[in-house]
Amino acid sequence: MRTPLVMGNWKLNGTKDSVTALVNALKEPANNAAGKAEVAVCAPAVFIGMVENLAQGSKLAWGSEDCDIHTSGAYTGENSPVMLREFGCTYAIVGHSERREYHKECSNYVAQKYQAAQQNGLIPVLCVGESEAEFDASKTMDVVREELKAVIDLCGIDSFKNAVIAYEPIWAIGTGKTATPEIAQKVHADIRAYLATFSQEVADGVRILYGGSCNAKTAPELFAQKDIDGGLVGGASLKADDFSAIIAAAVANA
Ligand code: PEP
Repeated sequence: MRTPLVMGNWKLNGTKDSVTALVNALKEPANNAAGKAEVAVCAPAVFIGMVENLAQGSKLAWGSEDCDIHTSGAYTGENSPVMLREFGCTYAIVGHSERREYHKECSNYVAQKYQAAQQNGLIPVLCVGESEAEFDASKTMDVVREELKAVIDLCGIDSFKNAVIAYEPIWAIGTGKTATPEIAQKVHADIRAYLATFSQEVADGVRILYGGSCNAKTAPELFAQKDIDGGLVGGASLKADDFSAIIAAAVANA
């Protein structure tokens, strides 16, 4: 039995005022969802302390959008998993396609981030997914398998007992082009089948979120799919009403 998870990824957005309003507005939907679905927001590092103060005592969890492979030292500008944990983060997104693309993060480096997060008490949310050209060339699973294999090689298949996978087709992120529920379900099932070649138990238990222009309109059908366990939500997570409707869709399908 997998508990659905709805996670916001705020990316490089927010002000002190908007963060305060958003977190305050999400506490009640998160509390109401408890027991049926989990809700989390991943914030820019500079806001994480604020989110901790605002969300503490509610069922709204929070996390980071990335984390470094080091815990401390001369790594200017980075965020240590130990520090993120100290500020109450439950989750750390690793390998988001924007990091893979703009920061040239390869799968082996992402796997090290995943490992550092997990070793320091964070639950890594490993993003995987193909570009539009790769989708058109039917290379989706080649790409996704390579991204998963890097983690399996470094951390072992059992590490997915304490991790989340987010399938995010790059062509759907921020474009308004959501993968159809059928396309998304097929990839999620293929991911589970791939993991099952290493461990059926892990394949059955790991939560696989869908991400890519998931919104209040598309979430109900996406979340109704057998292998979709919630969503990683960018743009629509910045609006309390939209995100609350997505949470409600996860609860309805729990
Ligand atoms: C994301 O960046 O993780 C994402 C899914 O973005 P959007 O929902 O805006 O497509």
